[in-house]
Amino acid sequence: MDMNSAPSQGPAASSRVVGGEGVLPLLAAARADADRTVDLRRRLHRQPEVGLQLPATQAMVLAALGDLPIELTTGTSTSSVVGVLRGARPGPTYLLRGDMDALPLTETTGLPFASEVPGAMHACGHDTHVAMLAGAARLLAARRDTLAGQVVFMFQPGEEGHHGARFMLEEGLLDVVPDAPVSGAFALHISTVFPTGTINVRAGAMMASADQFRIIVHGRGGHASTPHLAADPVPVAAEIVLALQAMVTRRVDVFDPAVVTIGHLEAGTKDNIIPPSAVMDGTIRTLSPERRADVLASVQRVAEHVAAAHDLRAEFVRVEGYPVTVNDAGVAAQVTEAAAQLLGEQASAVMAAPLMGAEDFSYVLEQVPGAMAFLGACPPELDPATAPGNHSDLVVFDEDALPAGVAMYAVMAAQALAG
Ligand SMILES: [Zn+2]
Repeated sequence: MDMNSAPSQGPAASSRVVGGEGVLPLLAAARADADRTVDLRRRLHRQPEVGLQLPATQAMVLAALGDLPIELTTGTSTSSVVGVLRGARPGPTYLLRGDMDALPLTETTGLPFASEVPGAMHACGHDTHVAMLAGAARLLAARRDTLAGQVVFMFQPGEEGHHGARFMLEEGLLDVVPDAPVSGAFALHISTVFPTGTINVRAGAMMASADQFRIIVHGRGGHASTPHLAADPVPVAAEIVLALQAMVTRRVDVFDPAVVTIGHLEAGTKDNIIPPSAVMDGTIRTLSPERRADVLASVQRVAEHVAAAHDLRAEFVRVEGYPVTVNDAGVAAQVTEAAAQLLGEQASAVMAAPLMGAEDFSYVLEQVPGAMAFLGACPPELDPATAPGNHSDLVVFDEDALPAGVAMYAVMAAQALAG
């Protein structure tokens, strides 16, 4: 789907009230419910799980939603949870996502509810996403009578490089309500890069694509004193590294940028041996599907042809990563307006530039128009410019921001289903 031409909610949708009560009561309700949100968040934080199988996390999600009028199903290939809340009247189906997985690192924050699992930490704040989405489920379930349509709650494992969203899509996530496929989607991501309690979003590219690749230069080993009798892969590998950087600067439009980095380069064992091969691993980041395809092809072409120029052979292997996360322009505008109504103009910001990290909510946004926004949660005593960031063993998220996130999730769904 061409995301730029996809239908969208448009800014006008956000002027709708929610069940006649407006958006502010949702924030008040989220604040009144903050203790439960924080409690679930801290229980998740103590027991982080990494990857696609998160049984303890899944059990906590199921328990948190168990008392609500929400139909729950669990994944077959992963420990995902999908909840469906049916409104009082028919209407479209709107998806809200919270990812569930932690990262493989050891927490050193010293928080009283720090990870109790060595080598695992909720360092990307996905524990807060789960807790906020559960809080939004409570708010929306309490307003079920005002909703025309269905809310799908997507509790996703394996966001951190494990393609969890793709597994859920393959299991039919978007058709979980068969007569009303998911037609819009929203996700929040917490971050210390932004002041606490702010919502930050932009139209178009929000996060980068991230593909890995490996280049193996196949030569012929020999004695270092007689390179003419061997086929030395080392200078060819070096030439490829430099040629890739020249390729990026000469071929890539700076307004549709790309980053190519070789982060690992290895060849040989000893000074007097010409090795038979050299290996390099790299990453490609781009902000458009077209640039992504172009740079992937260019990296392969440069590697193969530089090697061929020296009568060696380069083998190119791509490890497919996440696509570009592209926000629908209309939905992004709706987020900005809803955040301003809910939290005040000063708490609603349009991001000047995307972040070059990657996000597998991109798979959902390839299928349906929607948006991902960042919820600022830098502790007020710290500076967002220098505070430990997501993926740091020291990162601390300000829990006072959570009700704003709960309310944002609820508002986006309630406005989509306002009838
Ligand atoms: Zn994350």
